[in-house]
Amino acid sequence: MSTPKIEISGLRKQFGELVVLRDINLTVEPGAVIALIGPSGSGKSTLLRCMNLLVLPEGGKVRIGEHAFSFGDGSKLPNVKEQARFRSNTGMVFQHFNLFPHMTVIQNVMEGPVSVKNMPKAQAEALARKLLDKVGLADKVDVFPNKLSGGQKQRVAIARALAMEPEVMLFDEATSALDPELVGEVLNVIRALAAEGMTMILVTHEIGFAREVADRVVFMRDGVIVEEGPAREVIGEPKQEATRAFLSHFHNRS
Ligand code: ADP
Ligand code: MG
Repeated sequence: MSTPKIEISGLRKQFGELVVLRDINLTVEPGAVIALIGPSGSGKSTLLRCMNLLVLPEGGKVRIGEHAFSFGDGSKLPNVKEQARFRSNTGMVFQHFNLFPHMTVIQNVMEGPVSVKNMPKAQAEALARKLLDKVGLADKVDVFPNKLSGGQKQRVAIARALAMEPEVMLFDEATSALDPELVGEVLNVIRALAAEGMTMILVTHEIGFAREVADRVVFMRDGVIVEEGPAREVIGEPKQEATRAFLSHFHNRS
């Protein structure tokens, strides 16, 4: 078996008195797609944010590719530069796109490579064009974000994350804020990334999509992984009562 791309062990996070992640253990093989599901407040976003060091955990270990950090009890917190390097290896796409409104689409995509990786502008522009073509926005390179639909903005956000050439992509409810008719175009981009072998964790309420695209489904509740397994099994025949109860809120599971 190959070395896992992502390894999380004993991960703990609390905000004040509120314990949000309790001893999370998760291993993701290279090229695997994981759907992370669970009720609101169960800690899904916090888990992704810990993997991107947007939130610093109190304990445990996170390894992505060759970059590893330990947290808590005597371990040294990564310095800002190490954090930035780690973060750029992990592309994150949020529910809200957070594009720079004063920059054109292509400038948005070039910004990270130029400012964080010191990539020459011409090279960053060529990379951005290639990625915008890939997400179906070759004709929008020079427009400003306020001229785009939500689905188009989210595709720019995906291209922007890919421009950092990350080893893994993390999606936090990337389609939740979209009008229903715009969800499909974003899911198509995610589907294409999966087919290319990108390692991804998708926090999603699109249960049908999770079943189709994800290799494994992880169900979280109250900061704990309650059930994990092949997508068809967890969604089709959940073993835990809590998973069954959660999935019963979704009509279309086939
Ligand atoms: P999910 O994404 O599954 O809905 P979250 O990870 O966003 O869950 O939140 C888990 C819990 O942590 C919630 O109770 C939430 O209110 C709390 N929480 C998240 N971020 C913070 C924060 N920065 N400060 C305090 N509490 C937080
Ligand atoms: Mg969330």
